[in-house]
Amino acid sequence: MEESAYIGLGSNLGDREGALLSAVAELGRIPGTRVTALSRFYVTEPVGPVAQENFYNAAARVATALDPFELLAHLKRIETEVFRREPTVHWGPRTLDLDILIFGDWVVDSAELTIPHPRLFERRFALQPLADIAPDLMHPVLGKTVAELLAALKGSERVEAL
Ligand code: ADP
Ligand code: MG
Repeated sequence: MEESAYIGLGSNLGDREGALLSAVAELGRIPGTRVTALSRFYVTEPVGPVAQENFYNAAARVATALDPFELLAHLKRIETEVFRREPTVHWGPRTLDLDILIFGDWVVDSAELTIPHPRLFERRFALQPLADIAPDLMHPVLGKTVAELLAALKGSERVEAL
């Protein structure tokens, strides 16, 4: 049986657009998994006192025969093995962040995995791209759609489409 899962992608170091594109290709190579939708790419201003590059963020939908723990293991493998191997000197692990935002109707609360992602509802940089591909998707715990969660956000952090 296949489930629809939604993956949040983020990068704020080096070739950020290239990292997102490579990550999408890697998602499609996960066994039993196909990429079925991709959001626009967004630029997000980092908040806080630490000077760093803007984030690029996106969201992808995949159809997968894996369970959430198997999918997470592959996301971690892609984050670490694939992107740490890039030749650029300053290329570090935060070059790519892959999060499971929503996985079917699954609700998981374990030490290594929480689904839906615990900070999804308060992150414009996650909700905005997710709304591109799944505005009517229901959050299985909060009982609100992605579009409703996005509309309810307070705060003015800038998340702009590339
Ligand atoms: P964040 O993504 O919150 O900025 P990290 O990527 O450093 O922080 O956190 C990674 C850890 O978060 C992983 O080791 C993983 O076990 C845990 N984790 C818990 N829930 C999730 C989820 N829904 N998606 C991805 N990782 C998760
Ligand atoms: Mg993460």
